[in-house]
Amino acid sequence: MILLKKASDLQKWLSEYRRGWQKSVGFVPTMGALHQGHLALVQRSMQENELTCCSIYVNPTQFNDADDLANYPRPLESDIRLLAEVGCQLLFLPDDEEIYPTGKQHLHQYPLYPLDQVLEGACRPGHFQGVANVVDRLLHLVQPDVLYLGQKDFQQVKVIERLLTYRNYQVRLVMCPTVRDLGGLALSSRNVRLSAEQRQLATQIWKELTWIENYGLNYPLQEVRSQVIRRLNALPETKVDYLECCLADRFIPIDQWPKGEKVVWVTAVTIGGVRLLDNVLMAT
Ligand code: AMP
Repeated sequence: MILLKKASDLQKWLSEYRRGWQKSVGFVPTMGALHQGHLALVQRSMQENELTCCSIYVNPTQFNDADDLANYPRPLESDIRLLAEVGCQLLFLPDDEEIYPTGKQHLHQYPLYPLDQVLEGACRPGHFQGVANVVDRLLHLVQPDVLYLGQKDFQQVKVIERLLTYRNYQVRLVMCPTVRDLGGLALSSRNVRLSAEQRQLATQIWKELTWIENYGLNYPLQEVRSQVIRRLNALPETKVDYLECCLADRFIPIDQWPKGEKVVWVTAVTIGGVRLLDNVLMAT
């Protein structure tokens, strides 16, 4: 696996690689602390492209909590080993100067409204502007043909869809299914902060979402919502930040079941101080 840290080296290497004939490049941006969820994106990209580039960069501008940024896990050596083991060909490991050459003070403001103001955007002011800034910079450098993102961060997928349109990137976006542990908990780099008991509690999130998927349409939408919030909040150390149903396409929160539409139930639940995101897509 080739490992590059400088933006200029990455651009040079990629232009050499592409010289002469068209090879498709798949790109998987991450913040590291890699798990099977990340590796599934890398593997999918490797199946569908001649070259797969992964990036690891803990983007400070998308953290609105200094402690969260400071405590974010950074097991770089094992990340490099995992990527090499699955056969990833190229790893970009930039530092702040490579991503923000003119500094982090003056971020570009993208037209994300209302995506950056609702749900995860409302809970984490500035978060999605930070995400858009880093992904824009990375896409500009890598110029991939295909971008692989996880469904686990559904709202982020919507934000990046908007970014692709805004910047007119000719990139195909592939949203990959959420990878879960045996209990159903969505894999996340933050799961390492959960104790064994908290991890057990956290499996209730997916159990509730699958209950909604299977039985939700039998009840009024608002009743489903309040029942599930009540059940999750009754668990020890557990607080639902939000649980909402949105039209999957436009990501607009709704309070009644629509007919014949694809919807997504999105939730953020804090367990023992660890914030966990999950969602389920369903047809009505
Ligand atoms: P992160 O390192 O958390 O920024 O995530 C990098 C990419 O991996 C994003 O596109 C995430 O949505 C995706 N991802 C994270 N966890 C999972 C998971 N459990 N299943 C599938 N994709 C995931």
